[in-house]
Amino acid sequence: MDHMIPLSVPNFEGNEKKYANEAIDATWVSTGGAYITELEKKIASFLNVENVAACQSGTAAIHLGLREAGVLPGDAVIVPTLTFIAAVNPVKYQFAEPIFMDADDSLCMDPIKLREFCENECEFKDGKLFFNEHHVKAIVVVHVFGNMVDMEAIMDVAEKYNLKVIEDATEALGTKFTTGRYAGKFAGTIGDFGAYSFNGNKIITTGGGGALTAKNPRDVDHLRYISTQAKDDPHYYIHNEVGFNYRMTNLQAALGVAQMEELPEFIKRKQKNHEEYNRLFGGYELGYILPYREGTESNKWLYSFVIDRTKVKAPMREIITALEKRKVQTRAIWGLINEQKPYQGAYAYKIEKAKYYSERVLNIPCSTNITDDEIRYVVEQVKEVLERTI
Ligand SMILES: *Cc1c(COP(=O)(O)O)cnc(C)c1O
Repeated sequence: MDHMIPLSVPNFEGNEKKYANEAIDATWVSTGGAYITELEKKIASFLNVENVAACQSGTAAIHLGLREAGVLPGDAVIVPTLTFIAAVNPVKYQFAEPIFMDADDSLCMDPIKLREFCENECEFKDGKLFFNEHHVKAIVVVHVFGNMVDMEAIMDVAEKYNLKVIEDATEALGTKFTTGRYAGKFAGTIGDFGAYSFNGNKIITTGGGGALTAKNPRDVDHLRYISTQAKDDPHYYIHNEVGFNYRMTNLQAALGVAQMEELPEFIKRKQKNHEEYNRLFGGYELGYILPYREGTESNKWLYSFVIDRTKVKAPMREIITALEKRKVQTRAIWGLINEQKPYQGAYAYKIEKAKYYSERVLNIPCSTNITDDEIRYVVEQVKEVLERTI
């Protein structure tokens, strides 16, 4: 291979330059402009929801969701430990306490342990759930790598204990249920709030950016208001709440509108490439490609190769470095968040599968413009490297 095959890079095959130039020519580059509203409408129509607010990042979207959910200092929020840390940090921005939960085999939050924790470790009185002295107000679930959380089971627990659900769908734009109670529903549109991200490595990108939807469309209006400095009268500087500077810019939105035009095609390619990887790794003894949840159609954003640790002993670093030398960029899944320095004192409930998968999952190249030759090359190299290290 004469070039490095990257893990995940942006793809600007459409109208990105054209729309960005139009935004520049019109000098509408900041937090006002027609592309922002157009992007919001496009996302809402894609997701089949009434109201979407565009914002600066997925992290900002999660923070706004927690705020609107009424999470206050001293409250507790149940979060996954096997995920990107940006799903959890906003809990701290609200001076609330995270409670870390385990993963199931989809890498998403385990709803059985969640229920067990609420039943056995908490107290439910006057319609409120308490963990020690903390009022447990919300759950953040993450649709990991485009896989769908077991939302039926999560929503059952949430309803039983009056918990707000914030769906971190930053990796799962386009993932939807095909059967069951939520058939036809997209990731991010089932809980109380849904957050999306358009960072550089996500399925569509605006460089940096995000979006937020909510079960109650009026919540989205309020979030749009607080994301733009809570201006009640923009000319006379009247502000009736504490606001944020979390609004997306028109320049970002110009990219976003072009990317939304391509999203259906990007999803198709991700699905096709996943099938190809599956075929090439079929019957392989040293590992397998992680499947997506049954009863869903996933956007198949990122591909996880699960290494058989009874056979391959080499540490992840060694495998990743060897592949890097062979021009294949891969990444280990995240380290557990409850083991990271800022969270070591936090409560973590029976973490088992999250730990298991954190030692086994290797993410392999998945860009929408990867070629069939590159996929074949990646598979060959992964096999060779693993076979040398057993
Ligand atoms: C990317 C990502 C985020 C954060 O999104 P940004 O737009 O980068 O702020 C949050 N959670 C998860 C799981 C992510 O992958």
